[in-house]
Amino acid sequence: MAWREELLRLLPGRVFLGEEARAEVSGDLSPVRQMRKLRGAELPLAAAAVRAQGPEDVQQLLRFAAAKSLKVIARGGGSGVVGGVEAGPDAIVLDLRRLDAIGPVDRASGVVQAQAGCLLGRLEEQLEAEGLTVGHYPQSIAVASLGGLVATRSSGQYSTRYGSIEQMVVALELVTPDGRLRHVGRPPRRALGPEVLPLLLGGEGTLGVITSVTLAAWPLPEAEELRSYAFEDFTQGLEAMRRLTRAGLPLGVIRLYDRDDALHGFPGLLPDAGLGALLLLSCLGAREVAEAGAAAADRISAAAGGRRLGDAIGRQWLASRNDVTEWDRYLSSGILVDTVECGATWTDLPSAYEAAIQAVRAVPEVVAVFGHAAHAEATGASLYFTFAAVPLPAGDAAELQHRIWDALLTAAAREGASVGHHHGVGRVRRAWTWRERQEELELLLGLRAALDPGRMLNPGALWPD
Ligand SMILES: Cc1cc2nc3c(=O)[nH]c(=O)nc-3n(C[C@H](O)[C@H](O)[C@H](O)COP(=O)(O)OP(=O)(O)OC[C@H]3O[C@@H](n4cnc5c(N)ncnc54)[C@H](O)[C@@H]3O)c2cc1C
Repeated sequence: MAWREELLRLLPGRVFLGEEARAEVSGDLSPVRQMRKLRGAELPLAAAAVRAQGPEDVQQLLRFAAAKSLKVIARGGGSGVVGGVEAGPDAIVLDLRRLDAIGPVDRASGVVQAQAGCLLGRLEEQLEAEGLTVGHYPQSIAVASLGGLVATRSSGQYSTRYGSIEQMVVALELVTPDGRLRHVGRPPRRALGPEVLPLLLGGEGTLGVITSVTLAAWPLPEAEELRSYAFEDFTQGLEAMRRLTRAGLPLGVIRLYDRDDALHGFPGLLPDAGLGALLLLSCLGAREVAEAGAAAADRISAAAGGRRLGDAIGRQWLASRNDVTEWDRYLSSGILVDTVECGATWTDLPSAYEAAIQAVRAVPEVVAVFGHAAHAEATGASLYFTFAAVPLPAGDAAELQHRIWDALLTAAAREGASVGHHHGVGRVRRAWTWRERQEELELLLGLRAALDPGRMLNPGALWPD
């Protein structure tokens, strides 16, 4: 591959051809891949890894790749869970982690700019030292990059208060496949015709390579009041969650766990009897606002059949909410653990939850499945399911995963749910995505053709074949 020699000369010090360097960036954390890796399977490797140090490196690489008809896969933190990054010998992985400078903060307006490879946790640490927050708290906050979070349309634990990524991003800098550096969007909102920015969120590395992200930032709240309540069953809990969300309270987080998810997350802290579902919430803001919100939450929850539980549950959630250390233990011992999220309106949430759980339970290899509702907003919320399944000794984990996802998403969609909420599409969710988005596909393909006519960027991800 003579092009590799040329690339070494074009981007000296940025191109890595060694096996270890390529292995480090050739995939993400999707469970099937992770399982194979932990169990010693050989995984495909990218042809080269390029570690960009500035937007101009990205421009040079994309121009070079276009001229040579090479494929390029952008990679941020590599924390994706749906195979958004999956490179073989026909692709170059563009590693953006060195693009991690944090720009000046406009404190008065609450506007912060940082390069796309900056990890969100690092940005938050710096902002919090200045009394600010973007308010984006995905469980992967320590390992996900700003570019990846934008490219996957991510959503964090406090989305009810701060919104999901689309409510946070106010401008982007990106390199399109023609090698041009483009600046899109600016705060505050405007009415100067259609905006391009929203069309680029969720591109999953197929519409351009994001090099810088500008986000809105808020003052850290003065107080947070946590509450938890027991409900008889998930449906009763959902009705309480609906009323609480739509009552105009200063909610930060609000999550409803089914019984098994609650037992898994809060062992030893739950009442012995009478718990069919657990609702956890917080109210945020100026102290008197947070306190008044929590008092209203007590009243609304009680009216909906809730029983207030002790404060230890909320404290435990805050302390352990990002801990996923048990996962690798299961995967390495041959148990496929995975999560699937979808979204539904308040009207459809109860039946979508029930149908999805029943469909997964009916798959013979499944040994456990539980779920929770979160990311509540005016019109609905997400459902998030965790399952564990044991592939037969000769079984194919990818086939099993597909069968379980198919059972779950087909059943939920039949009840009106949308087949994805915040993990993106990658290579795992494509089949169900385009079944749902058939009517929008033609318009979106037009956008892709305008930006990447040669399909150079991340082929195989997001779009149907
Ligand atoms: C334990 C765990 C918890 C998680 N919790 C959450 C959660 O709470 N909420 C949530 O939304 N997600 C969550 N995720 C999923 C994951 O963290 C997100 O999808 C995240 O946005 C991925 O960011 P990344 O930088 O790691 O992207 P990567 O995995 O590197 O890439 C993801 C996709 O984005 C593209 N991409 C990456 N960087 C760029 C760029 N600069 N320009 C263009 N395209 C780019 C890639 O090509 C790929 O298609 C979780 C994952 C794990 C492992």
